[in-house]
Amino acid sequence: MMYVMDALALIRSVPTKLSLGGDEVDAEGGATFDVLDPATGKVLTAVSDASPADARRALDAAYAAQAEWARTPARERGEILRTVYEKIVEHAEDMALLMTLEMGKALPDSRAEIKYGAEFFRWFAEEAVRIAGRYTQAPAGNGRILVSKEPVGPCLAITPWNFPLAMGTRKLGPALAAGCTMIVKPASETPLTMLYLARLMGEAGVPKGVVSVLPTSRAGDITDPLLEDSRLRKVTFTGSTGVGRMLVEKSAKGLLRTSMELGGNAPFVVFDDADVDAAVEGAVLAKLRNGGEACTAANRFHVADAVREEFTTKLTEKMSAFVVGPGSDPETTLGPLVNEKQLRTVSELVEDAVDAGAKVRLGGKKPDGPGWFYPATVLTDVPRSARILKEEVFGPVAAISGFASEEEGIAAANDTEFGLAAYIYTRDLDRALRVAESLETGMVGVNRGVISDPAAPFGGIKSSGFGREGGSEGIEEYLETKYIALER
Ligand code: NAP
Repeated sequence: MMYVMDALALIRSVPTKLSLGGDEVDAEGGATFDVLDPATGKVLTAVSDASPADARRALDAAYAAQAEWARTPARERGEILRTVYEKIVEHAEDMALLMTLEMGKALPDSRAEIKYGAEFFRWFAEEAVRIAGRYTQAPAGNGRILVSKEPVGPCLAITPWNFPLAMGTRKLGPALAAGCTMIVKPASETPLTMLYLARLMGEAGVPKGVVSVLPTSRAGDITDPLLEDSRLRKVTFTGSTGVGRMLVEKSAKGLLRTSMELGGNAPFVVFDDADVDAAVEGAVLAKLRNGGEACTAANRFHVADAVREEFTTKLTEKMSAFVVGPGSDPETTLGPLVNEKQLRTVSELVEDAVDAGAKVRLGGKKPDGPGWFYPATVLTDVPRSARILKEEVFGPVAAISGFASEEEGIAAANDTEFGLAAYIYTRDLDRALRVAESLETGMVGVNRGVISDPAAPFGGIKSSGFGREGGSEGIEEYLETKYIALER
């Protein structure tokens, strides 16, 4: 059953207090901070603002619950996760609207994220019962080798605003399936979706203490004491490369396990033998899904000179059909950016490219009025010196440049410190494999514009981080290997 409320009634009914070990409580001293609506810049509601003392209470709860949760039979843990999946599906419409209100993106994008985010509970409900070990004879014949897997222990998850649900469920699903407890620190722009999920998790039977959700306006102040506490065993982060690097440094002291899903700068490479219409369809998805605010979003379009004009004309036509407006408006297909800072970054990167000689084929100018809107934008002839080819734009801007040979296309694609996702379009299977193997990224989409799949290992290399989420690999991030040596 789906519940559909209007925005005001929904905002009044959603949880806004900390979820501390599953209890909805005020922050220390009753502190709160505001959550803004990106479509208007106005206050949507206020949420509890966790303090370092609240964080310690959450870790007390996570630590106290750890042993029993690890002992809970895997089948039982899996069934609880499956119930969380069903609860999200049941409340999908309310969650999608809530997400749109706090994050800005158009409702179809929010609906797609709810569906994708829920899948991590279904997938890891099934993986919980497949945690395996091994039993072998020592080669010298003098004993047996037993290898088993154990949960890492209490984890801290720090998540970004661009996918307020899925970036959390990609961590919660495997952590809980493995038998770990977890404290989630959602982005300060978008805490509401995660607090809503925390309530659903309680209703689904996640025991007290196992999960806490702590919104805060002072991230470092609450995460630093946790990273220094020896009861915490892992930090898993999705966000910018700069913050990720700093968290790895801070984790070194306690030798914490770390997983880092960091920034991207995905190339979208169209070869001269590509099906141009299919490439344009894929490009629209790779660029404008989630309003361009995705770490996997195509940032740079490298298009073979022979098909460049055709590709550009067709992409411009498709992107010009996107309707900019408040994400909750049923007509809208491109909502506002998340905040003013993001709007400034996108505007500056476009201005820098134009100053360097790029031509504007579509958009390129933010509209007047309230809200953090930016139109679908196409830039061509973008010179290599432009910042937009080096930095993640995180907005609805396609920067197109040409190349003459396959080697040149691969070199352009790899000319970045990042290594998360890449997309290639070609009809030649040999070329597809050759190029995919040459690309310095953790993921490659071949003739498709969306690669995320809960059943596949998501993650990057180089400055895009390390560790994998989803697939059978995802649960390994939350498991330790134990070797038991048996005499004879
Ligand atoms: P961000 O500034 O790094 O923030 C991410 C999270 O880190 C937020 O919860 C933030 O809290 C927190 N944070 C900030 N400073 C911190 C500190 N000193 N100590 C502890 N936590 C801290 O990134 P963002 O701008 O929100 O997100 C965009 C970035 O995420 C992009 O670079 C994008 O590529 C990346 N991303 C990567 C993936 C992936 O899977 N690879 C997926 C999605 C996004 P506050 O909200 O309070 O600042």
